[in-house]
Amino acid sequence: MHAVTLIKGDGIGPSIMDEAVKVIDASGVKIQWEEAYAGLAAFEKFGTPLPDETMASIDKTRLAFKGPLTTVVGGSGFRSINVALRQKYELYANVRPAKSWAGVKTRYDDVDIVIVRENTEGLYAGLEHFLTPKKDIAESLAVVTRTGSQRVIDYAFKYAQDNNRKKVTVCHKANILKFTQGLFLDVARETAARYPDIQFDEKIIDAACMHMVMDPSQFDVIVCTNMFGDILSDLTAGLVGGLGLIPGANIGNDAALFEAVHGSAPDIAGKNLANPTAVIMAGVMMLDHLGEHDAAAKIKTAVEKVVNEGKFVTPDLNPQSKCGTIEMGNAIVEALK
Ligand code: NAD
Repeated sequence: MHAVTLIKGDGIGPSIMDEAVKVIDASGVKIQWEEAYAGLAAFEKFGTPLPDETMASIDKTRLAFKGPLTTVVGGSGFRSINVALRQKYELYANVRPAKSWAGVKTRYDDVDIVIVRENTEGLYAGLEHFLTPKKDIAESLAVVTRTGSQRVIDYAFKYAQDNNRKKVTVCHKANILKFTQGLFLDVARETAARYPDIQFDEKIIDAACMHMVMDPSQFDVIVCTNMFGDILSDLTAGLVGGLGLIPGANIGNDAALFEAVHGSAPDIAGKNLANPTAVIMAGVMMLDHLGEHDAAAKIKTAVEKVVNEGKFVTPDLNPQSKCGTIEMGNAIVEALK
């Protein structure tokens, strides 16, 4: 029995997380779910977006399965709880795989890219302030440390080795941001020399975006700082059929958190339209992390069957489909049998 802190999240979160839990439980793996709250749901219930009870649960389980959390855009409201959780548990490597699906029609059919994004520092360190009382000059500090860069770049190379990947590309902007991005690039170059069996490439981030849209097959594992990885992973999502398909793992030395890459999608919340695939595939990553490889493989095969058949899928995958989140979850449970 594995204990997992379950945070259903905001917007479409509860509906897709219910399907994910249903599918994981149906695989036969024994999980003891400890439900906890964070984000807007927690703010409304407890008056704080990150209650002590939630932290106490993760302190104990060291493992969270989380739906998307709404973060208010702009100056008012609380800071991102996603960022706070990643920083508190030092979940330094954010792994976001994007792979083409046989049944999802997109421009390319051979995309297979894994983004390893630094997850605790960079421009998302949250060191922002106004410089004037009138609040007409704002400043944001990007923090890049050798230690922070080293651990995530090592993770990317080890991931490549362990998963039979051939190449690691560092995407950076060291031509302009010579100190912060320069440090990250230096560490990547030094690290590459220690992994002679893995090809190493470096690309300036803007050029990388163009190359990725024109020929994604030249990318394998990508490592980059926090904000570049965030943006680039939505680009890879677009290449394989959208945000409803991309899972994410946030890995630290002694804790991990699994979630979808997408957000709480307020535009479709409460309409039974959200695609549960991304969180279910995040569940597959969590089961692999727990060593439950059989259950993970079983769920992956069932999800692939349903997505590739294209019949019991949400409208983002098949605009003709009358199927919703719940029906897609049910079809995946059926495919497990
Ligand atoms: P979003 O990812 O929620 O939505 C972007 C677009 O993708 C929308 O059109 C949405 O309908 C669609 N989409 C997303 N997930 C989908 C799914 N599962 N099935 C079908 N369509 C889906 O991004 P946003 O609108 O920029 O952000 C909404 C909120 O989510 C914000 O408060 C943001 O801060 C938050 N957010 C949270 C996380 C997280 O918790 N990890 C990640 C990203 C954004």
